[in-house]
Amino acid sequence: MRSFRILTPRDVATAVDQLPATRGPATREDARVLAGGQDILTELKHDLIAPEALVDLSSIAGLEGHERTPDGGLRIGAMTRLVDLERDASLAGAFAVLREAAASVASPQIRTQATVGGNLCQRPRCAYYRHSHAPCIKKGGSECFAATGHNKYNAIFGGGPSYIVHPSDLAPALVALNAEAVVVGPRGERRMPLENFFTLPSEGSILRENVLGKNEVLSELIVPKPADGTVSTYLKFRERESYDFALVAVACTLRIDGSKLASASLVLGGVAPIPWRATRAEVLLANAEVGVDLVRRAAQASIEGAAPLSENGYKLPLTRNLVWKALTALGAGGAR
Ligand SMILES: Cc1cc2nc3c(=O)[nH]c(=O)nc-3n(C[C@H](O)[C@H](O)[C@H](O)COP(=O)(O)OP(=O)(O)OC[C@H]3O[C@@H](n4cnc5c(N)ncnc54)[C@H](O)[C@@H]3O)c2cc1C
Repeated sequence: MRSFRILTPRDVATAVDQLPATRGPATREDARVLAGGQDILTELKHDLIAPEALVDLSSIAGLEGHERTPDGGLRIGAMTRLVDLERDASLAGAFAVLREAAASVASPQIRTQATVGGNLCQRPRCAYYRHSHAPCIKKGGSECFAATGHNKYNAIFGGGPSYIVHPSDLAPALVALNAEAVVVGPRGERRMPLENFFTLPSEGSILRENVLGKNEVLSELIVPKPADGTVSTYLKFRERESYDFALVAVACTLRIDGSKLASASLVLGGVAPIPWRATRAEVLLANAEVGVDLVRRAAQASIEGAAPLSENGYKLPLTRNLVWKALTALGAGGAR
């Protein structure tokens, strides 16, 4: 690991100023954001990146913490620790999906350090990307080795030219809750649906997983008030129960009105380079009569359009079954 300086800005504007501009003067130092360090320190140790400086966001007051907004939504600072979401018992009903997703991340030790912003901005876990000697396309090479190599953990949706999956557990949960991302850069603040924050490899820069410019910082997430009566859950299937990334995860929110589904949001994790909205299933669920048959059809619709690679066909039945389980648990199958 090469040595680096740690910069400790007191406010977001200074942090932005300490980051290199996308097309800034060549003399500008190469600095990266440091949050809880649970991902970026590994990248440094494995020589995947070698910045001259880290801009430590923990020195900025006001980025940590989450609170209810006056209208019943949620504001979450980017430096909020995952353990704070996990331990907040008031995150129930519509917000249970967020608490359950936070609790599913890594180990208790990591959740104590890791932040919401870092979780959403963490880099891919694909073994080829993480191998310092594999010049994969995500690191500026010309090839995605997973396309024809080992791809058990890779994408079944939205792949090409890279087949990474987005590793964040919070991302599907926050997208299912229709969260907005607040991004601060040299020209001030911009807001966007979190869903639009993430980019497919075929869209933005292949070297990034989101719309953040080099000199931009994710400062907070705003979750709008969910409709009264909304319930939610996060289900994650992993190889190791102790701690592991998702093979497949499902973030689901829904509201039942009488015998009908008034609204439903279904976002998958572990299957695509971005949190993947199961749009076909959502369309099928909208305003439909609850019942076992609806759940079965929605679960099947959630895997339509998938394009599995040589080693990850198992993700299809896994996804279908997890969606079935989530919808059933939330009552979409009718009274049990
Ligand atoms: C053993 C292990 C198991 C894990 N299991 C899981 C798991 O099951 N689920 C899961 O979701 N994750 C898992 N992770 C990943 C870990 O949870 C995330 O890496 C963690 O949430 C990152 O948060 P952090 O604050 O430590 O980020 P850092 O490591 O500090 O930063 C991560 C990246 O995001 C950038 N960044 C951070 N904050 C901001 C910001 N506000 N604005 C712009 N850029 C920013 C950094 O520059 C860096 O590139 C695991 C990690 C380990 C080591």
